[in-house]
Amino acid sequence: MAEQIPLQDLQASAQSCRRCPLWEGRTNLVFGVGDANARVLVVGEAPGADEDAQGEPFVGRSGQLLTQMLGVAGLSRDQVYIANILKCRPPGNRNPLPEEIEACTPWLREQTRSIDPEYIVTVGNFATQFILKTDMGVTKLRGRIHQAGRFKVYPVFHPAYALRNRNSVLPQLEQDFRLLGELLSQDSVTG
Ligand code: SF4
Repeated sequence: MAEQIPLQDLQASAQSCRRCPLWEGRTNLVFGVGDANARVLVVGEAPGADEDAQGEPFVGRSGQLLTQMLGVAGLSRDQVYIANILKCRPPGNRNPLPEEIEACTPWLREQTRSIDPEYIVTVGNFATQFILKTDMGVTKLRGRIHQAGRFKVYPVFHPAYALRNRNSVLPQLEQDFRLLGELLSQDSVTG
């Protein structure tokens, strides 16, 4: 297995990253937050305005919903590690560009290697497609385990999408996190 770099060393190195032009617009680089030895790594898309201002992922309205959904799975924010595909905010919250994903994801790879989680919960299309190396959308992949190397990958809808579609998507998001909680407790018993 490749060498594991301590998370705090990775974070210190990332602070000065200029691998893509997004560094120019950032207030804060948003590296990630949580338990460095977490069983569950949550991977989202990119920082928004609140995250850029505070330097922490998922702290705005989407983040509040994610925290609530983690609770449905029996998890607190402190028990997981939360990161994004991109560490700096795209202007106007536009979608990540392929060249930005290519430039930034070595950080995520090193984070994943360092944390060595059992589960990776991919939040939304960008994280799901990157981690599973697929063009399929999260709608088709959500709510079940996909194996990627030694990781169990569990895609869910992005909370921002659920907030825009409260009647149709939010119940599915809640259902998926409930099932995640069941899977985690089953693995604890049998693993
Ligand atoms: S988005 Fe990623 S690759 Fe681009 S400057 Fe920020 S940390 Fe570096």
